[in-house]
Amino acid sequence: MFGLIGHLTSLEHAKSVAEKLGYPEYADQGLDFWCSAPPQTVDQFKVTSVTGQTIEGQYVESCFLPEMLANRRIKAATRKILNAMAHAQKTGINITALGGFSSIIFENFKLEQIKRVRNLDLDFSKFTTGNTHTAYVICKQVEDAAPKVGIALKEATVAVCGATGDIGSAVCRWLTNRTGVKELLLVARNQERLSDLKEELKFGQIMGMAEALPMADVVVWVASLPQGLEVDPATLKQPCLMVDGGYPKNMNATFAHPGITVLKGGIVEHSLDIDWHIMDIVNMDVPGRQLFACFAESMLLEFEKLHTNFSWGRNQITLEKMDLIGEASRRHGFKPLLT
Ligand code: NDP
Repeated sequence: MFGLIGHLTSLEHAKSVAEKLGYPEYADQGLDFWCSAPPQTVDQFKVTSVTGQTIEGQYVESCFLPEMLANRRIKAATRKILNAMAHAQKTGINITALGGFSSIIFENFKLEQIKRVRNLDLDFSKFTTGNTHTAYVICKQVEDAAPKVGIALKEATVAVCGATGDIGSAVCRWLTNRTGVKELLLVARNQERLSDLKEELKFGQIMGMAEALPMADVVVWVASLPQGLEVDPATLKQPCLMVDGGYPKNMNATFAHPGITVLKGGIVEHSLDIDWHIMDIVNMDVPGRQLFACFAESMLLEFEKLHTNFSWGRNQITLEKMDLIGEASRRHGFKPLLT
């Protein structure tokens, strides 16, 4: 059995879907309530690979909301993640993906130091961040979508917002060593981590977001932002491809402009229907087939019987591991979203 630990994108989102999650009494509650709500298994389902193999999985709602970080409810945020992990482990799940902010909180607040949750010792080998598959899928989205909108990557400037993050650094490694782009703009806040990344890549320029966006033919958004940014389309090149892998999205949902193509980044489409309702709750366009690449990673590890923390720690994602998970992804019938 595989597991998915997820969360909703905002308090507003949580209130609007509480009924669909099966907890109508949560709908009128404020942040305090969500801070004390326990993790819940809210969906159970089967997934069939194009090879014919079928596996079973569960979605665990951690009840974490990004507002907890914005309102300095750090203890509540960390408790949500640890309790959800303990819940998944107690249920007997072999491998569980820590979706969206779950792995970011785990890393930022060094939760590997807190192994014991009540009477349970967490076994971290049963968890994966899912970031290797997410980075692979985002790179494929860039490589496949850019030519379709008239951008030749060999001649293109690509900005990666969140370049020093776990996903961002893997994307930079791939774009530098595999895709081969003309210029790479490395965007994040911490200058030391940016310098270390540039040194590792031996490529790219460190740049502020305001300076980088107008120069970019392609923008990969993988910054850990609790809510979407306003981007002025008038300042951007045309054509321009935006691949937004953030969860919540890095760009404001209302962004639209004819010369600028925005792709939902880090999303895959499965070749066969999945009978679940959770992707409807997180507003996927085709909820029976589309899902986050990090969740798909735990499915792939279960299909392949690789019950190990395949993606773990920060900035450890290698091109070889991206190749391996990419091959498994294709073999089992997952495709990067291109529309
Ligand atoms: P990390 O915490 O590892 O990295 C975040 C990056 O964002 C860092 O480079 C950080 O650098 C940068 N950043 C944060 N705030 C800002 C800011 N205000 N301006 C510019 N840069 C900023 O995160 P991950 O790589 O694990 O995840 C990145 C995003 O991907 C998240 O939104 C996450 O939810 C999403 N995600 C999506 C998945 C999917 O399946 N589609 C799967 C997993 C994650 P610095 O702090 O120095 O600015």
